[in-house]
Amino acid sequence: MPPPSAVSAARTILTRLHDVMASRSNAQTKLNTVVDVIGEGLDSEVCSIYLLREGQLELFATRGLSQDAVHVTRLAIGEGLVGTIADNIDTLNLAEATAHPDFSYRPETGEDKYHSFAGVPIVRRERAVGVLCVQHVDPRRYDEIEIEALQTVAMVLSELIHSADLIDEEQTALSPAQTGPVHLTGLKLVKGLAAGNAVFHQPRITIEHVMAEDRDAELSRVYLAFDKMREQIDRMQAQAEFGVGGEHEEVLETYKMFAYDEGWSRRIIEAIDSGLTAEAAIERVQQRTRMRMRQIDDPLLADRMHDLEDLSNRLLRIVSGQMGTAASQGLRSDTILIARNLGPAELLEYDKRRLKGVVLEEGSLTAHVVIVARAMGVPVLGRVHGLKGALREGDELLLDADQGQVTLRPTPVMAEAFGARFAKSRERQAAYAKLRDVEPFTRCGTRIQVMINAGLRDDMPGLQLTGADGVGLFRTEFQFLVSATLPARERQTRLYRDVLDAAGDKPVVFRTVDIGGDKVLPYLRHNDGEHEENPAMGWRALRVALERGGLLKVQARALLEAAGGRTLNVMFPMVSEPWEFDAARDVFESQRRYLKGQKKLMPEAIRYGAMLEVPALAEMLDVIAPKLSFLSIGTNDLTQFLFAADRSNPKLAERYDWLSPAIMRFLRRVLLSVAGHQVDVTVCGEMGGRRLEALALLGLGIRRLSITPASVGPIKELVRKVDLAEIGEAMKGWLAMPPPSMREALTEWAEARGMEID
Ligand code: PEP
Ligand code: MG
Repeated sequence: MPPPSAVSAARTILTRLHDVMASRSNAQTKLNTVVDVIGEGLDSEVCSIYLLREGQLELFATRGLSQDAVHVTRLAIGEGLVGTIADNIDTLNLAEATAHPDFSYRPETGEDKYHSFAGVPIVRRERAVGVLCVQHVDPRRYDEIEIEALQTVAMVLSELIHSADLIDEEQTALSPAQTGPVHLTGLKLVKGLAAGNAVFHQPRITIEHVMAEDRDAELSRVYLAFDKMREQIDRMQAQAEFGVGGEHEEVLETYKMFAYDEGWSRRIIEAIDSGLTAEAAIERVQQRTRMRMRQIDDPLLADRMHDLEDLSNRLLRIVSGQMGTAASQGLRSDTILIARNLGPAELLEYDKRRLKGVVLEEGSLTAHVVIVARAMGVPVLGRVHGLKGALREGDELLLDADQGQVTLRPTPVMAEAFGARFAKSRERQAAYAKLRDVEPFTRCGTRIQVMINAGLRDDMPGLQLTGADGVGLFRTEFQFLVSATLPARERQTRLYRDVLDAAGDKPVVFRTVDIGGDKVLPYLRHNDGEHEENPAMGWRALRVALERGGLLKVQARALLEAAGGRTLNVMFPMVSEPWEFDAARDVFESQRRYLKGQKKLMPEAIRYGAMLEVPALAEMLDVIAPKLSFLSIGTNDLTQFLFAADRSNPKLAERYDWLSPAIMRFLRRVLLSVAGHQVDVTVCGEMGGRRLEALALLGLGIRRLSITPASVGPIKELVRKVDLAEIGEAMKGWLAMPPPSMREALTEWAEARGMEID
């Protein structure tokens, strides 16, 4: 903590600067007074201000150096000590300036008699717009108090410079790492290409006023903001405990630690005491922490720093009243959304016509946000490290989720090469679109059912566009996710009816609500608020529906009424034991009897199905199969349970392969278990939409896939090249004696037969 004298030094200077800024004198006179005020306040022989003009740092005002040097001495970004400060956006504090490797002597300044040097960047919108420095004859390092005072003053100067129009905002100084092109790699979560501009999901706040008019008012604003922020964190943590939160517990723990950290709040209060507004004080403390952390090379600490940045931004948003995410602000038409992580409901708030791509610092293949993005046709790159440090809002981006990379601020040559790839990819898409009316028969003449996964009214046009055979999985919980309150029965009925109308003759399989896990419903909480250690294996899906009987009853009625006069296909998620299926079907049947009594038009037929997502059910297929019209294998959940690997944990995102022999053998056994029954078997997990995985599934005997609409074309194309007997034989061999890598073996096999697999 800085001793009180730091606060008082800054406060004295700030009070005087306030008067300077309020005066009617011109900008140059103001700057001349400013260097005197700072020099006197810090008892410094030299105080100089360099500002950016035409790409160079020009000496604008000085006390102590030769006045002849004013508007004459200029340094490039990165040149000399001043240029280095602007380049690194970092403080320098040197006992002997000439000993620094970047020192560059300028005779016109007459600075040779000064030994010590300290300088801080003047920053606006995260860019250096100038440098403020002090020099002394004595060779001594400045103490922390003085540096802190300088940094505070630099913030105020940035406001003065902006309001006096002293710099060209467009020409602000940036280091090459922030201006030049940068390639970052990540995990391909949803394939596709997009060009656009970076939009932060949580927009950064621009601080317009730095100097406070009323200290007490600023203090109470910040106290209130802290209270609100702590409430939010507590709520997020409570939600995580209910298994409905989007954040990871580890992150929340750190948030909580910082949110209640007295040191942090005290430093902000001190900064307000020195004369800053609440916003400026939060930013000031953040800058200070950033600078300190930069000196420590420890990845763990860097992560924590990231958390503190998040929290600091949250506090800034609260204090400035700018609470919404980018979704609630006018979104640019070529948005590439940047976020640490997102919940599915948060993504659904974005206008999908304007959203071209998403880049996440976290994320995993089967997290629901990724499934939603896939359904929206928006490419997503996940697990991209070092993103926020290298990127600023509005930067141009080329997202290539096919290759797993994103290019920041591309050169024209890069943009051209990307453009060519983009054109090729569009051509490919157009070729797939041509397959719309082509039925997916294998080379050997078997008709494969290719259906789509959907969840919203908006997804339904995808059925006609792709020429798919129907909707194999309609995730009804999406309506619940985008709704602020539990959707009433009438609203549910309307949606289901619209969906059936849109599907026409094609079948739609409605899955009853699958809430819990990573699907957050703030208005639906666990009864007794019990802590859930493993939400994915917790109170979710059918377990919720059976316990909250009312929920399932309402949905059953809505579905039965919507499907009046047609066939209703309904399936239950996360069935673990046959009795759960029976209980859920009984709810539907009793609703059917009731509605019949009410003389409502009932479905012509009801086909009941179960999802196979919990491995235990695989052992009971002989018991349950006679009751089923169809079985839908949800490989997203099934594989997470088979491998005991949380599907939304980014650390495990690349750990297990869907093509592992363990999964393949498991699926083979499932198919054998239901072989003697009249049960349609579908795979509706994400793996079915990937060509190599689909090939393996065909080899196992799967003949029905329900996949993301964008995959229909590629899968149809694949199907037409497959000979089922041939792939069946190959799979049999691999499953009997698994090769070291199933993926490699399959890839070689497919390539040898001219199949495109990526
Ligand atoms: C699955 O688990 O594979 C599935 C299709 O359901 P969801 O992804 O919605 O959990
Ligand atoms: Mg599932």
